[in-house]
Amino acid sequence: MRVTGTAQREAWLARTAPPVEQVRPDLWSVPVPIPDSPLRYTLTYLIAAGSGLVVVDPGWNSEAGWQALAEGLKAAGALPADVTGVVVTHIHPDHHGLSARLREASGAWIAMHPAEQSTLTALRPRNADTRWADLAWLARCGVPDDVAAGLAVTDEALTAVRGMAMPDVLLGHGELVPLPGRRVRAVWTPGHTPGHLCLHEESDGLLLTGDHVLPRISPNIGLQSNLAEPPLAAYLRSLELIAAFDMAEALPGHEYRFHGLADRVRMLLAHHERRCDEVIAILARSGPATAWQVTQELSWSRGWSSVTGFMRRAALAEAGAHLRHLADAGRVAATAAEAGEPDRYASVT
Ligand SMILES: [Zn+2]
Repeated sequence: MRVTGTAQREAWLARTAPPVEQVRPDLWSVPVPIPDSPLRYTLTYLIAAGSGLVVVDPGWNSEAGWQALAEGLKAAGALPADVTGVVVTHIHPDHHGLSARLREASGAWIAMHPAEQSTLTALRPRNADTRWADLAWLARCGVPDDVAAGLAVTDEALTAVRGMAMPDVLLGHGELVPLPGRRVRAVWTPGHTPGHLCLHEESDGLLLTGDHVLPRISPNIGLQSNLAEPPLAAYLRSLELIAAFDMAEALPGHEYRFHGLADRVRMLLAHHERRCDEVIAILARSGPATAWQVTQELSWSRGWSSVTGFMRRAALAEAGAHLRHLADAGRVAATAAEAGEPDRYASVT
């Protein structure tokens, strides 16, 4: 792996915001701040062609974020009103948050993968069922009631999701972004979310990787109550797919640009294999355990006690994804929950 975004990396190490950069003659990267997040910023990309200008992942919806986006557009000689299209790699608020405001300011279309639209649609109805279903799922994971109350999806979070824009354009695997004069192709990489997209800029040899592959951290691959497909299997398959773009420079959604996608993919595959081995070792030691018990036994970079708040939810989802993956592969045995009891997993000897 070779870091190409050296100014971005220096800024990362100095804990400051990287500069707006012109990565290619008609392509810019713009850091858009994320409030109260260790990730600090999303890398938003601007792609121009003829009279069109597409913004990829406008970033978190805040006033500071909007100003940062406007700064980036100014560097590209444009105003928010000049934007003709928005593409989101996925609908997490640090990527899709500002899309609605940008569409309002410009009349731009918004594009995403159909599976992301489905997630937005599923979370839209205004009723108590979403939180109730979520609490039921947490109980099946073995989370004690008093802890579950703090981990379950909140009305506040659901309101934020409901405020996010629905798409005008759906982009399936292999389809071109509607930007005449430029070949930017959607590559479907489910795992981090069901409809995550990478974007391949063919003539410039660039791959916009969203959160699928980042140079330093491993993206959260989590089992959620509303997922149909096991996410880790999907993610590992999507990693193999992206290794074929090794010639391309990787333009990630966070951190910094780099070359060496195949190397990075190998590291991420190895990371998940180690994680699977760790889960099996925990079950062999502890006997049958719930997902919540396994979550607390797993090693976390700064220790379980420093995993707090929403990060506990992400940690549980990650452990759940590995347990499901191992159960599907026949490497652990899952016992179906009896009424009122959580699911338990055991090592297969
Ligand atoms: Zn992100």
